[in-house]
Amino acid sequence: MKGRCADGDSDLAALVRWLCNGGKMEAELEKKLLIDVARLESEGEILEGEVDIVDLDEEFVHPFGGVRYRLKAQLFNTELVVQGHLEQDFDLVCSRCDREFDTTVKVDDFCVSCEVPPAAEFVDLTTEARESIILALPTYPLCDEDCPGLQQKVEKPADGRWSALDGLKVE
Ligand SMILES: [Zn+2]
Repeated sequence: MKGRCADGDSDLAALVRWLCNGGKMEAELEKKLLIDVARLESEGEILEGEVDIVDLDEEFVHPFGGVRYRLKAQLFNTELVVQGHLEQDFDLVCSRCDREFDTTVKVDDFCVSCEVPPAAEFVDLTTEARESIILALPTYPLCDEDCPGLQQKVEKPADGRWSALDGLKVE
């Protein structure tokens, strides 16, 4: 089954792939995090998925894939409460050694509550989720807690001209 999903570009394979993926085409993630309040179960619902909402264009911060979410959404009269987990993969540059490394930025305590306008079908939490991920980015990214930095590369030049300068200073 899995093999049939992966190989071949026939219409059947594409259909099977589409069905395997819960009815969404691969590589076509939603661009918004929408909560379908019109159809929300009264006791609340767990919502899971992936949405492409962090479109940063920074030199040292490259998101890849989408934001994966697992959220509980519940309506209390006209108030929607959504809380749970978000995570996004990033390609970052280490602040000590300048090397690129991959990391997953996680938000474990995402929580939003808002008033739902009458007759609204969806509540859009794209901005809230995007900002939570961006705020969770490390200020000084490290490829490793023990990253030694650039020190090995910056060695004292074994060059006669420099020792001549040392001599001048001593005098
Ligand atoms: Zn490093």
